[in-house]
Amino acid sequence: MISKVVVVGGGTAGWLAVNHLAHSLKGQPVQITLLESPTIPTIGVGEGTVPAIRQSLKKMGISEADFIRECDVTFKQSIKFINWLDRAQHGENAYHHLFDVPVPFGLDLTADWLQQPQQPFAAHVAKQYAVVQANKAPKLISTPEYQGLTSYAYHLDAKKFAAFMQRHAIEKAGVCYRQADVLDVELDAAGYIVALNTAQHGRVEADFVVDCTGFSSLILGQKLGVPFIDRSDWLLTDTALAVQVPFAQDIEIPSFTLATAHQAGWIWDIHLNSRRGVGLVYSSAHLSEDAATAKLDKYLGGNLAQHSFRKIPMKVGRRQHFWQRNCVAIGLSQGFVEPLEATAILVADFSADLLSKRFPKDRAENELLAARFNQRVVHCWDQILEFIKLHYCASDRSDSQFWRDNRDPATIPPQLRDKLQLWRSFPPCREDFFSKFEIFDFENFLYVLYGMKYPTQTPICAAEYLAIAAKHRQQVAQQALMLTEQLPGHRALLEKIRQYGLQKI
Ligand code: FAD
Repeated sequence: MISKVVVVGGGTAGWLAVNHLAHSLKGQPVQITLLESPTIPTIGVGEGTVPAIRQSLKKMGISEADFIRECDVTFKQSIKFINWLDRAQHGENAYHHLFDVPVPFGLDLTADWLQQPQQPFAAHVAKQYAVVQANKAPKLISTPEYQGLTSYAYHLDAKKFAAFMQRHAIEKAGVCYRQADVLDVELDAAGYIVALNTAQHGRVEADFVVDCTGFSSLILGQKLGVPFIDRSDWLLTDTALAVQVPFAQDIEIPSFTLATAHQAGWIWDIHLNSRRGVGLVYSSAHLSEDAATAKLDKYLGGNLAQHSFRKIPMKVGRRQHFWQRNCVAIGLSQGFVEPLEATAILVADFSADLLSKRFPKDRAENELLAARFNQRVVHCWDQILEFIKLHYCASDRSDSQFWRDNRDPATIPPQLRDKLQLWRSFPPCREDFFSKFEIFDFENFLYVLYGMKYPTQTPICAAEYLAIAAKHRQQVAQQALMLTEQLPGHRALLEKIRQYGLQKI
């Protein structure tokens, strides 16, 4: 019987994992312990999320208002991609990848938009476009916790979030926390971990181990030898320069992440309540560190020297599998794809949720569950790789070798190459996405492809479809107008929530 579960690592992944496990295993005779090195810091970045995180926080019984107050949270409704198209052809350009689905009232308006693609695709298909453009919040002060008038996620302070989740796990879920450096693992004859050897607490027995040790992948990768599949052949960015800068309290807060493309990558700009997190992601094969630093400095208006910034090397790829014997890796120890669509916390959260729902009682259940988990999470990773690559290879930028290399067919996953070929003749449809569990589905591809003016042939449409589409389009415009009048400003709502909280569900 599995009664001693040990999670190693106290970053975002570790604390998400223990909270999911503690929630699902409540009432069962299982003790959950989290071990964290007192000397190895957490990565300290990872401040953009996607809407799925709301379900997890709600499930764990976390108050949304407390979370907003304690983690310096702002709302995120979109990612705004700036200059991902060739400026010589399109001038300064931008598009939104919104969180509201682009299929209003259940009708796909893509074919309608392709008839006359004059306004931005996102404006044509979603009321949320007007909301984010007007810097409005996604909800009212009277909207219950975790519900919204538009779909939303959060920007959060990574360090404060880990500390918040730690308090919740210890105080509300009975998780045991120890500061300890794990030095080695002890295996039995069948290759199952039976104990972890630590510097501070000696031998810690374990029936099941969750490896959340970050990029080092100490247990799954180093000790159990599960190979790393390098994907730097598809995704060319491998380094980030990250900095935190103060943010004036009297200007409106964007409720979207800004992702501004540059000659060899892009810059993230996330506005929290009291500061911004900014980072320049680049390919070191295409841009020197000095040139990258100069670009970041320019973006910050020549202020970089006033702040200390960090260089973070990024290992792009994933472990061959994530669950071996009685060890599961979650978080950066599983793998990493650059942060363009904030997928890392999403996959960590998804994996932790999946593990907690299908947690083995004993060794007999282990193998079957491991196989299913690996199949499911591998699919997730492969989809994410394709979706991130889409942003680069659908671009028509030709101003540097980096963008030209990104369109080289040898750097494009074969399945994505086929789909891009298909989507020249037909717009994407649901049937192009086989699995019921797509992390990035049809809707997400629509926003990116048509945000980037992908040249799909104009479809021939029935008059009936066009007539219904025109009505739906009008309704989108009416709702957009109504919502922008009704919704409070983003900063104003955050201040109210801090003061009064939100209605409990
Ligand atoms: P870490 O935060 O590195 O934590 C590792 C933990 O393991 C630490 O507590 C450490 O003390 C412990 N540890 C290590 N070795 C030992 C040992 N021997 N014994 C005991 N403990 C040990 N994700 C998003 O979703 N959105 C984003 O916007 C985003 N932006 C990012 C930007 C960059 C540049 C990078 C690199 C990543 C970004 N991520 C983002 C990813 C995100 O930061 C991580 O997925 C998330 O923080 C989870 O990290 P982690 O907990 O797996 O690892």
